[in-house]
Amino acid sequence: MSTDRFYMPARVFSGPDVVREHAKDLAAYGRKALIVTGRSSAKKCGVYDDICSALDEYGIDHVLFDEVEENPSVSTVMRARDFGVQNNADYVIGAGGGSPMDAAKAVALMIRNRDRGRDYLYKSGGDGSHVPVVCIPTTCGTGSEVTGISVLTDDEKNIKKSIPYRIFADLALIDGKYLRTAGRATLCNTAFDALAHLYESRLNADMTRISCLIAEDGLREWSKSVPVLKGEKQPDETDYENLMRASMLGGMAIAHTGTSLPHGLSYALTCGLGVPHGRAVSCFMAGYLREADPAETSRVLKLSGFSSVDDFEETFRMCCGAVDEDEDRLRPYLRQSFTDVLSSASKRAKAPFETDAAVLWRIVNSGFGIRKYRAVLFDLDGTINDSGPGIMNSVRYSLEKLGRAVPSDDVLRKFVGPSLLYSYMNYCGMTEDEAWKAVEAYRECYHRGECFNLSIYDGIRELLGDLNRAGISCAVVTSKPQEAACKILEHFDMTKYFEAITGPDPDDPSNRKSVLIGRALSRLGLGAEDVIMVGDSRFDIIGAKEAGCDSIGAVYGYGTREELEENGADYLVDSAAEMRPVLGIG
Ligand code: NAP
Ligand code: FE
Repeated sequence: MSTDRFYMPARVFSGPDVVREHAKDLAAYGRKALIVTGRSSAKKCGVYDDICSALDEYGIDHVLFDEVEENPSVSTVMRARDFGVQNNADYVIGAGGGSPMDAAKAVALMIRNRDRGRDYLYKSGGDGSHVPVVCIPTTCGTGSEVTGISVLTDDEKNIKKSIPYRIFADLALIDGKYLRTAGRATLCNTAFDALAHLYESRLNADMTRISCLIAEDGLREWSKSVPVLKGEKQPDETDYENLMRASMLGGMAIAHTGTSLPHGLSYALTCGLGVPHGRAVSCFMAGYLREADPAETSRVLKLSGFSSVDDFEETFRMCCGAVDEDEDRLRPYLRQSFTDVLSSASKRAKAPFETDAAVLWRIVNSGFGIRKYRAVLFDLDGTINDSGPGIMNSVRYSLEKLGRAVPSDDVLRKFVGPSLLYSYMNYCGMTEDEAWKAVEAYRECYHRGECFNLSIYDGIRELLGDLNRAGISCAVVTSKPQEAACKILEHFDMTKYFEAITGPDPDDPSNRKSVLIGRALSRLGLGAEDVIMVGDSRFDIIGAKEAGCDSIGAVYGYGTREELEENGADYLVDSAAEMRPVLGIG
């Protein structure tokens, strides 16, 4: 557990008619308030009228910006800022769900920094000074009224993430009655967000004794609402208060620990498929709970009113509904979730357990059970088999036959992978004519038996078998003539694993990997986004990029880690076994 620290500088008041009761406090932050809300709910639930009455009572002028959309965009924040500045607003009141409250914090920052452009919002190193901001929640999810977090969608880049400033509300006013107009879907989606905050804070590497106390109290509070969320009981005023309190405690807890993997994984689903925040986050929760320490998991489940992870999952589905998009539509977003978090050391550091690629994919996929790729394309030499000995012997033979000096083994090793013509010209300084002669001599030796002088890399057969069993197609895409590739695979009883074996035609010297990949894709009837290419040389990685598919650099083969990295391999692996989590099989 981290050393204790506590910082939550918002003044918080909660209870019935809190806005009226604290009208004086609400009016105390300036001379003109910019009220920031969503499009309609603030008027419908009564919070807007309550704010206006309170401000009017104390003679404070106010203007309304009511255009905040769900998952508020940077452009909206900038429009609200300009509107506030034109109207000489000197403080901001955000009223609504997390979206208007988060927007209000960002608007307060930008009003104080009125000469700055939109880039300032994501600039690290700014001092974060802002005009005063008040938050009044009308959903029971984000706890934004007590966190320093503001999550925006950068609509130029289509990325949703928190801005780097910590902006706490100066005042938070919490009243359960605003939930009366929230339909069951809003209640459920936001309550499950609050639950996610509580779980992710309680099961967090940065948990402190105080954040633990807050989270556990929040979980107890949350459990009281299960019958309402399940639709077994009509909510009354006490239920609304309980929901708001659990949400606030969730906010206070994450203000100290930050959120963890489910939140990090959720953004692709929200941005890409429009899944509401709380529902998107909770899709990954069962997987997260299953990876955590079983005793801790069972404690948080019990506190929140569940008997097991399955019980949680079933209740979540019953309350929020499953995200049951078609597998092909979900796949790119789930892969995006996986890579977003795999590449974020800070997000992964929040989990109180190891988060390698295998664990992450298990969490991502636990609620979906989809194939991460529909097919895997394998290079042959240096990826499936270690064909170095036979290839190097054949190159040696060809050079001796042509009376050329035989270079060192380091140079000969480079012949494994690329086309022979390319290699003779680039590594032995031959003209194209000379290189064709060398290829002929090479083939003479190679087909006499050296082609079988190879070994299959450890773990490859098992990997191929498991991919096949998981319904993931496999194909070979090699620069070796197709006939030779088929002969070798047949000899080693490997043909059975592949749906397609693609190499250059004997009379078509064009052996660009991207063209060969394209050919394999049309044989498989798949698109580039459905597949991943595995190869040990830069030609494989470049080819994959050109064709538009993901790639794995097989470092155990004949290329170097540097060349695979420099050419943009999406993943690097040191063995066939390391490919398994990347391909989404156990
Ligand atoms: P929201 O996006 O603020 O609102 C969702 C919907 O609920 C909107 O259509 C809204 O209508 C409606 N609504 C709000 N209050 C209502 C009420 N009382 N009655 C009827 N309808 C009501 O939803 P949210 O889940 O509260 O916020 C999600 C956002 O917060 C996400 O962007 C998320 O990333 C962020 N977030 C922030 C934090 C943080 O600490 N700052 C933490 C977690 C999540 P209107 O548009 O008409 O208002
Ligand atoms: Fe959240």
